[in-house]
Amino acid sequence: NELSKTGAGARTDTRAPNNLESFWMPYTANRSFKQAPRLYVGAKGMYYTTVDGRQVLDGTAGLWCVNAGHCNPRIVQAIQDQAAEMDYAPSFQMGHPKAFELASRVAQMLPGDLDHVFFASGGGSEAVDTALKIALAYQRQIGQGTRTRLIGRERGYHGTGFGGISVGGIVANRKAFGTLLTGVDHLRHTHDLGRNAYSRGLPQHGAELADDLERLVTLHDASTIAAVIVEPVAGSTGVLMPPQGYLQRLRQICDKHGILLIFDEVITGFGRLGTNFGADYFGVQPDMVTMAKGLTNAAVPAGAVGVRKHIYDAFMTGPEHMIELFHGYTYSAHPLAMAAGLATLDVYREEGLFQRVADLAPYWEQALHSLKGARHVIDIRNLGLIGAVELEPIAGKPTARAYDLFIKCFEKGVGIRTTGDIVALSPPFIIEKGEIDRIVETLRECLQTLD
Ligand code: PLP
Repeated sequence: NELSKTGAGARTDTRAPNNLESFWMPYTANRSFKQAPRLYVGAKGMYYTTVDGRQVLDGTAGLWCVNAGHCNPRIVQAIQDQAAEMDYAPSFQMGHPKAFELASRVAQMLPGDLDHVFFASGGGSEAVDTALKIALAYQRQIGQGTRTRLIGRERGYHGTGFGGISVGGIVANRKAFGTLLTGVDHLRHTHDLGRNAYSRGLPQHGAELADDLERLVTLHDASTIAAVIVEPVAGSTGVLMPPQGYLQRLRQICDKHGILLIFDEVITGFGRLGTNFGADYFGVQPDMVTMAKGLTNAAVPAGAVGVRKHIYDAFMTGPEHMIELFHGYTYSAHPLAMAAGLATLDVYREEGLFQRVADLAPYWEQALHSLKGARHVIDIRNLGLIGAVELEPIAGKPTARAYDLFIKCFEKGVGIRTTGDIVALSPPFIIEKGEIDRIVETLRECLQTLD
């Protein structure tokens, strides 16, 4: 059989056990990675172990997700026990207790009457698509079926589903994929280096940018708009903090016009700002909250949407034997994810990890801002255990300088993440002050050596 890789016509290299070619890596420069691969084979607490036995301090909690640190023994045990007890159960017309338990626990943590939880499977992208679909279906359910428009924000990141890239505002994530969802518009982003450089915590200027929503209402009419989705802190697009008062103003405008407000809390959920959710930190009540990452400490993929009571109730009206929402995933509320989630929430609570974030935040801020004046640095931002160091791009070679920094830090045993020419930092909550110092000093040292 000529097509078989085991047959006579097989290319021998595809069968080599350590061949790196077959895996088409996501969000990666595949060719340069494969020439000089960086492979992790172990993880514990704050550290990864590389394939050649080096320890790398995890300055980013994986991808903003391993909040309690790697391989927490309680979470590992819970997953192992669940795998042995029941590997899988569907959540379509059947259920299993841990899904109900985790939904209740998450609902208790969510602010106000966000008391229902819909589980997606894979993570944030599915959670976002779920929330957008619920928003559209809800408006129709309450007799507002003309409200079909969704509003996102420039520089927003809401994952990679068609819904998420449509409301998202990162051109590289959008431009190759056709016309995307129709009927989507965007608020302007809030990043304003001119007025807000080196803000500590929330930038002072820019709350008025929320009035963009009024402009879009004038343009489209409120009767066509279903929902607005924003990240309380925009992470993947370079760590952009909301200006003081911005989210509150957005809430007011949504209320005025009957528009749902969705907070995408995939990175701000579960303690990153020292509170359960970003909504708590900002004192703003959204209508839906998307979450993933920290929900299971990333040990098993899972996403979820928290929904306010009146939204859920609006669906509970037809004949009781009928499905109310035609949406769900084979792996919605997967037992391993539910077990991981329950153990994760126990760990957060019993180890006081969210309070730890709040306690460490001032030290984190001081340490990061000590990089002011370091070579190539043009801005520093921080909130909770989130940080950003923005670099002056090399003319004509955007991202090159930050990528170089990333490689140099990795070689010195510190894992950072870069997006564009911005270093984004988000360590696990178990980080010690000495480790914060090490991240900052490594950045300082490496910045000196950059072109
Ligand atoms: N939404 C936000 C705010 C995110 O930061 C991310 C991922 O970083 C996502 C959605 C997508 O999540 P996932 O990659 O799990 O699909």
